[in-house]
Amino acid sequence: MSQQTTDLSTLNTQFENAYPQDILRWAAETHGDQLAVVTSFQPTGIVTLHMLSEVAPNTTVLTLDTGLLFPETYALMDELEARLNLNLIRVKPSLTVEQQAEIHGAELWAREPDQCCAIRKTAPLNEALAGYDAWITGLRRDQSSGRKSTPIVSLDGRYNKVKLSPFATWTEDMIWIYIRANELPYNTLHDQNYPSIGCFPCTQAVVPNAADKRAGRWVGREKTECGIHVAAL
Ligand code: SF4
Repeated sequence: MSQQTTDLSTLNTQFENAYPQDILRWAAETHGDQLAVVTSFQPTGIVTLHMLSEVAPNTTVLTLDTGLLFPETYALMDELEARLNLNLIRVKPSLTVEQQAEIHGAELWAREPDQCCAIRKTAPLNEALAGYDAWITGLRRDQSSGRKSTPIVSLDGRYNKVKLSPFATWTEDMIWIYIRANELPYNTLHDQNYPSIGCFPCTQAVVPNAADKRAGRWVGREKTECGIHVAAL
């Protein structure tokens, strides 16, 4: 077993019962300005940003602006950027939606969603993360069966970065208790049975209290992830 693997194992044991704020503080102290948080302003991301605003307020915040987000998502982004004074970078794909349609045909997401996600999400994120050693995600083990083994810290082979999921052990209820206790804004689509919110062409409302918190994404397809998190799970 390599030293790095041993170190990650030790850290995961140490972090398993740690409060996320302490994990975030450790990440900021360890990686400094080489640390970035990647968020799509889902509930866990909101809690992450609020805690980071207290322990490491200058941390770079990367968000993928695919050009296909809901108006409610853009409104939330603006509100949190102002309220938490975020060091926010809106990462955009190299192709606009119109250019993508000209090159690959209209509504690529309906025909080749993996290719669409590669163009609009994974490639831009890969480029944006190039200048950082470590990134923070909002993955939680209770979100879906595919995420049930999410480690708190891992080495992400795809991006060759340290990947941190400080809220891996938290439940959806814990996240919402924190949001309400701190009177944080959230995406109003959650009140309309959208548990997970991505691009509008690939996101639907679900039956109330659906067990799979990723239900509603790429409905009718086997696809459950955009590709950003697949490699490390
Ligand atoms: S979620 Fe849908 S619209 Fe957004 S990048 Fe992926 S396939 Fe394209």
